Amino acid sequence: MTIGFEVLAADGMARTGRLTTAHGVIETPTFMPVGTAATVKAMTAEGVAATGARIVLGNTYHLMLRPGAERIAALGGLHKFMNWPHAILTDSGGFQVMSLASLRTISEEGVAFRSHLDGSKHLLSPERSVEIQRLLGADFTMAFDECTPFPAERAQVEASMELSMRWAERSRAAFTERPGHGIFGIVQGGVHPDLRRRSAERLVGIGFDGYAIGGLAIGEGQETTFAMIEATVPYLPTDRPRYLMGVGKPADLVGAVKRGVDMFDCVLPTRSGRTGQAWTRQGSLNLRNARHAEDPAPLDPECRCPACTGHSRAYLHHLTKAGEILASMLLTAHNLTYYTDLMRDLRTAITEGQVAQFELPYPA
Ligand SMILES: [Zn+2]
Repeated sequence: MTIGFEVLAADGMARTGRLTTAHGVIETPTFMPVGTAATVKAMTAEGVAATGARIVLGNTYHLMLRPGAERIAALGGLHKFMNWPHAILTDSGGFQVMSLASLRTISEEGVAFRSHLDGSKHLLSPERSVEIQRLLGADFTMAFDECTPFPAERAQVEASMELSMRWAERSRAAFTERPGHGIFGIVQGGVHPDLRRRSAERLVGIGFDGYAIGGLAIGEGQETTFAMIEATVPYLPTDRPRYLMGVGKPADLVGAVKRGVDMFDCVLPTRSGRTGQAWTRQGSLNLRNARHAEDPAPLDPECRCPACTGHSRAYLHHLTKAGEILASMLLTAHNLTYYTDLMRDLRTAITEGQVAQFELPYPA
């Protein structure tokens, strides 16, 4: 028995459903906070759960280098290590090895590289990536892929996608079936609809527990992102979850949900929380701005998070200006709560057949 997925209601291309994993049930559409180094930055595990999140993302590249996958396995796995009882999805390391490591050499075998931390030599291959994700104890394993640079010539995009498809096949073969655990393939193909379709069909031919759309939101613009989702989703099975990787702003999520995406991850709500930016039902704002200095109103009167129920905009402005750690903690908790509630409200809109009218900013 792999990851369970049941579609509960559909509205146009959008659908709401339920994922069943070894670490609990997740309602979709869902947003996954990013816990890069076995922590969602500025948050306790209890705080993350209090936002309503029931799945977080861990980064294979970071964890393999520090503290090491074997060490985490010896300590009982990533769930126990970070005291997170709910589900975990790990990325494959493919994206970050390209963006962070030095002296990379890509071959058919995989990516040889030096650590950005200490210069030590490593090899990430499909087999090693899947092994690391098993050692971490991920409920959701991602196939190892190459993130194609953008912009790139079509021939380069095609060759990169074909390499990722061969790696997907090896990743699938290396995956050990366990109850409540699954592996996702990743659709590549840049901004070319025919390559996206070919990639999707290749992955479906291999057979995965879910399908991710990768290599987007890297500078192509929202209109193209949406067009690539539309070029991919029709070739994916309706009874398996779809995950748009690394996206994005609230408006990106709404547009992608309307086009049939079920799962998201992005550093934006957490990273922005550490720089004073917040999303509210009235739009986004920056707490560093002096106009908040004497404002006794809450950040978002409709929000249930600790920043909004206990504090004024003036206080949050003060903490942000003073560089206090609490500013990062409260604004991260707020932004994650906003994203979680946005997903909840989208699920309700889908159930009620109202998703086409769902726009941002939106009334509660
Ligand atoms: Zn709030």
